[in-house]
Amino acid sequence: MSSAAVSVSLGLPEVPRQRRGRHEIEAAAPVSGDKRVLLAAPRGYCAGVDRAVIAVEKALEHYGAPVYVRKQIVHNRHVVETLEAQGAIFVDDTDEVPSGELVVFSAHGVSPAVVNAAAERELRTIDATCPLVTKVHREAVRFARAGRQILLIGHEGHEEVEGTYGEAPEVTTIVNNPEEARTVEVPDPGNVTWLSQTTLSVDETMEIVGILRERFPELQDPPSDDICYATTNRQAAIKEIAPQAELVIVVGSSNSSNSVRLVEVALEYGAKKAERVDFARQVDESWFEGVATVGVTSGASVPEVLVREVLQLLAEYGYGDVSEVTTAEEDILFSLPKELRAKLKEGGDTSRGLGGRGARPTR
Ligand code: SF4
Repeated sequence: MSSAAVSVSLGLPEVPRQRRGRHEIEAAAPVSGDKRVLLAAPRGYCAGVDRAVIAVEKALEHYGAPVYVRKQIVHNRHVVETLEAQGAIFVDDTDEVPSGELVVFSAHGVSPAVVNAAAERELRTIDATCPLVTKVHREAVRFARAGRQILLIGHEGHEEVEGTYGEAPEVTTIVNNPEEARTVEVPDPGNVTWLSQTTLSVDETMEIVGILRERFPELQDPPSDDICYATTNRQAAIKEIAPQAELVIVVGSSNSSNSVRLVEVALEYGAKKAERVDFARQVDESWFEGVATVGVTSGASVPEVLVREVLQLLAEYGYGDVSEVTTAEEDILFSLPKELRAKLKEGGDTSRGLGGRGARPTR
């Protein structure tokens, strides 16, 4: 993939190199070359996260607080805390929502059992499942109806996997890793299709598929990639940067699958060290010993403001020279959930508020 590196002005304060202030690193080991930051693009918010967060904001605006949200709307602490402050109440399951109240289903999707449980309790619902997750659900339903066995590559216990599995539990087996791919058994080995979670490592998933195909030569692929464009693009960008970086900092939460994968991919592709942080305050000074080049990226559920705060801190540490390395352009937008569109129309709200990644940098 071709990439372009451009120096970017981030409005960060200049820090004279000779200064040894509070944050200037006293490197015990010599730093070869000038200190610099390679900033991955694309990074941060994807279309599915943008849509889900706006769905909760618009629900609060048009229905009023409280708005209940089943699970974290997206896997990011800052986003969840910000929405909580606006009146959202996050619950583990619909039985915690008072009868008749409004509940939003998160971007990771829900199984039919959850939809039915909400209907039984007469909850009003807004489904903020990412359309790319819904696509995988539909594939599961279609293959199950066609009588096929499904091997679902993904992390057991992750909300997205629970939702997809729940579409066809009787014919689906979850494959967590290459080891499980070597041992998994299915009742009809000549009649198997694989699907996957949307936020996995592209390389590891292909390794798992390779193992499965050796064991089940008639293994059928999904009609199109289940790993989504945002996951793929963010991994491609960090693959470009990692070989040049002594340290990669990934901004993202510990329960964010795609953020955790970015740490793994960075290490696999040559970064000497890769660390994940929710917030700039978690960056540890000891990480910079002997480091000239720092790679920075963020997971698909991370608002740009958190990356800016890390860059600000890096500038204070003397890493104020920032070049953005762009490996893909993204312009995907999803329309808001249909239940909400109707309400917005009723209220004459045409703002919609979508603008793609980075469109809401102050949050
Ligand atoms: Fe959708 Fe991919 Fe974003 Fe998940 S990471 S919300 S699947 S676009």
